[in-house]
Amino acid sequence: MSQDSTNSAVPVPGRSVRPTGFGGAVRFMVRSMLTLFVGLKVTLKKLMGRKVTEQYPHEKPVMSGAFRSAIALVSFDDLNGTHDCIACDACELICPSYCITVRGDRLPDSKKKRATEFLVDFSTCSLCGLCLAVCPTETLKYSSGYDDAGYNRGWIHNLLEPYADDPEAPELLALLTARDEAKRAARKAARAAKEAPAAKPAPEAETTPANPAPEGSDG
Ligand code: SF4
Ligand code: SF4
Repeated sequence: MSQDSTNSAVPVPGRSVRPTGFGGAVRFMVRSMLTLFVGLKVTLKKLMGRKVTEQYPHEKPVMSGAFRSAIALVSFDDLNGTHDCIACDACELICPSYCITVRGDRLPDSKKKRATEFLVDFSTCSLCGLCLAVCPTETLKYSSGYDDAGYNRGWIHNLLEPYADDPEAPELLALLTARDEAKRAARKAARAAKEAPAAKPAPEAETTPANPAPEGSDG
């Protein structure tokens, strides 16, 4: 006749042995109380220690500079806080996810182009960074938003939305021209500094003693 394994006296790992008798029940109770104190000890230790939990959303975390979130346009101080997208389409062409759509137009009485539409579908953006790498005006960056969420399959962001109050065309044109001139001057100065001959080091002074002692003298 085969023996029932549930009635076996051999303790099964992970399964508590049922106490027998009054003494066993007391021992079981004491052991259970002790495990309660082990847990409480950990809780008290964490309660007294340095707090690492942030009370989000009341406290907003400061993200590291290396954090990558959805792409955004850079605002430049020398352009009165606006972007410098020239609608060159380089980012749109290189994007492997086909999630960028840029349209642009020339500023009045100028050859300079300016973006008039900049849409990005964040539901397909992989944050690969290729668009940032090719942008000739460095006007693309990763934003530091961490709690943005999309509720639709198409999650389109208009990157020009924060720039609705762009300066008027003549002012913008003046700012862009001044910026171009400043860049040209900086490049010229850098080239001149590179081509300037390196300053010759001053010749070393001869170190012959004033009154050399004659040979054979006892000093
Ligand atoms: S980060 Fe990559 S996937 Fe996202 S928009 Fe730029 S190029 Fe496209
Ligand atoms: S690569 Fe830069 S300048 Fe060209 S369209 Fe994209 S964001 Fe604008």
